[in-house]
Amino acid sequence: MVVARAAWAADPGRSRGRRHPESPAVGRSDFQRDRDRIVHSTAFRRLEYKTQVFVNHEGDLFRTRLTHSIEVAQIARSIARRLGLDEDLVEAIALAHDLGHTPFGHAGQDELNACMKQWGGFEHNLQSLRVVDELEQQYADFDGLNLCFETREGILKHCSRRNAVALGDVGRRFIEGGQPLLEAQLANLADEIAYNNHDIDDGLRSGLLEIEQLETVDLFARQASEVRAAHPRLGGRRFIHETIRRIINELVTDLLDETRGRIARHAPDGPDAVRASPALVGFSAPMRERADELKRFLHENLYRHYRVVRMTSKARRVIRQLFDAYLDDPRLLPPEHRDRAREDAARAIADYVAGMTDRYAIKEHRRLFSFDIET
Ligand code: MG
Repeated sequence: MVVARAAWAADPGRSRGRRHPESPAVGRSDFQRDRDRIVHSTAFRRLEYKTQVFVNHEGDLFRTRLTHSIEVAQIARSIARRLGLDEDLVEAIALAHDLGHTPFGHAGQDELNACMKQWGGFEHNLQSLRVVDELEQQYADFDGLNLCFETREGILKHCSRRNAVALGDVGRRFIEGGQPLLEAQLANLADEIAYNNHDIDDGLRSGLLEIEQLETVDLFARQASEVRAAHPRLGGRRFIHETIRRIINELVTDLLDETRGRIARHAPDGPDAVRASPALVGFSAPMRERADELKRFLHENLYRHYRVVRMTSKARRVIRQLFDAYLDDPRLLPPEHRDRAREDAARAIADYVAGMTDRYAIKEHRRLFSFDIET
């Protein structure tokens, strides 16, 4: 069932606007224009070669940041349509949410944060906003992509008080309280649905997880036993895919039911009422618990698996050594980054390192520390 734009949906015709005023897009809404700018950005193409859990060269079929972001957008859009939300805004936020991610996944982010400790730290979510606000260089009239306030607000999921003050309007809710629009709330939960499920798939594909282990997790066990009952002879990849698609469906259905109930109770009559309400997009309490159980399982058994940790410890060293080498001698930086480093060396280096793909970081590390390849 398709619902027309609901009263509680974001309205591109009533956006709080862009930082640099522009005339309205012709033939598409302002949120569509944002989505299109994101797809055409350099940072978006880099996602193809950035780690989700497995480093790109570990296998051709594992998720990368790019395919992860596309899966998030797919889940978010299909829910948005059923809730009458603005699909373009939800898609823009979903496609942009990881643009600021470092190479090598969370290990890269943690190490860069440690490197930047005395210069205000590094946070990939804040970096995503920095990419769309400042770092992309595509347009004649401004730095960044000059996105609408609502898209920028949705990209900024969390933020420290100190950073919120520096960010101005888009950081205000972290000081004064309040929720972002439903499209942003939804993109956030679609992210969780996507990674919990594709990490099961990638974990099994890599051999780091076993189906028997996953049977200890309620969400997986219940759907797996239904698949077995319906298709007793199904095995291998098809069994896994059939189980995962049912888990995604169960999560999405619960999220829709719960969110519809909350919207009915609070009856927000527009975006301002959404901002003043408690979080309206969410799982039911029992489903929240079951999703958390799956998350805990993946943390303990996949993200902390020794083979993943072995990769992440190597990745941390690459990030640390690149950062230290540039800081020690900014002449090692390519000209455009060296120019920026004259003002604020640490931040310019963090921007450069964060923008690297996995393989670029590995190659650059070799160029700086080894004589065995051409420079
Ligand atoms: Mg994500």
